[in-house]
Amino acid sequence: MNNKDCPLNASKKSISEIITDETLTLLRENKAKKIDAIWLEATGCSGNIISFINGENPGIFYILTQLINLKFNNTLMGTEGEKAFEQFLDTLNGEFILLVDGAISTKENGLYNIIANYKGKPITSLDAVKLAGEKAKYVIAVGTCASYGGISAAKPNPSESKSAKEVLNREVIRAPGCPSHPDWVIGTIAHLVGFGMPELDEDGRPLLFYSVTIHDNCTRRGYFDKKQFAKKVGDEGCMFKIGCRGPVTKTDCPRRKWNGYVNWPVQDNSPCIGCAQPHFPDGMEPFVRY
Ligand code: SF4
Repeated sequence: MNNKDCPLNASKKSISEIITDETLTLLRENKAKKIDAIWLEATGCSGNIISFINGENPGIFYILTQLINLKFNNTLMGTEGEKAFEQFLDTLNGEFILLVDGAISTKENGLYNIIANYKGKPITSLDAVKLAGEKAKYVIAVGTCASYGGISAAKPNPSESKSAKEVLNREVIRAPGCPSHPDWVIGTIAHLVGFGMPELDEDGRPLLFYSVTIHDNCTRRGYFDKKQFAKKVGDEGCMFKIGCRGPVTKTDCPRRKWNGYVNWPVQDNSPCIGCAQPHFPDGMEPFVRY
């Protein structure tokens, strides 16, 4: 059977679309309520928002027009300056989801990462995450930096960056990945809007997307079982001995794939570097050594 036609692959890929469709039906029937959302970009690279914009199942248009009211986002909003921050403050008075993208710099009270200037005062991402995090109905850490600190908190961590959970004394849903796959974020938002909290693992990750390791579903697993190992990148065989972190990394990359469901690292002859794991990157390096 062609890999594309495998029903398991198809259902894995479309799960966020199924949840979103069902949630949109509930919204149309007034059985669910469209909710406000704040997406705060803290100390990171904007990779998660770019990944989110690339979502296809469904696309960004549906999310912004039908699923949520995105009230504040450093990259996507049209409003600028103090007016933009006022929109952020207004949103805090209602029910909303907070999405945190990037780790939160805490050195010098967060002054390494200023997201707005309001009434002559710099507003740090630490201020904003704490302010919104206290009031949000749900908090989602989007990407590995917000989930665990990630690259932003890698040694020697000069900005003393921390994860969202470390600066907020509350439940945080983690959607790690560098970046997070758009389906993981969109599917989680749709679940929250339509059905409430999705089932999470002990680490706060939605089981819908993070329940198995890459190794469990890897297309090279047969080589591993037969002990046929690649000696260098590009060789046929399992890449375990050249540093693949698939055995410890919990995501559904082999079935879901990336960039419009086209490819993923192992398919492209690159070992998994464990970008969605708690100790990435420090605990995963060196990436190409057993
Ligand atoms: S390439 Fe990596 S994920 Fe795939 S079977 Fe080998 S060790 Fe496991």
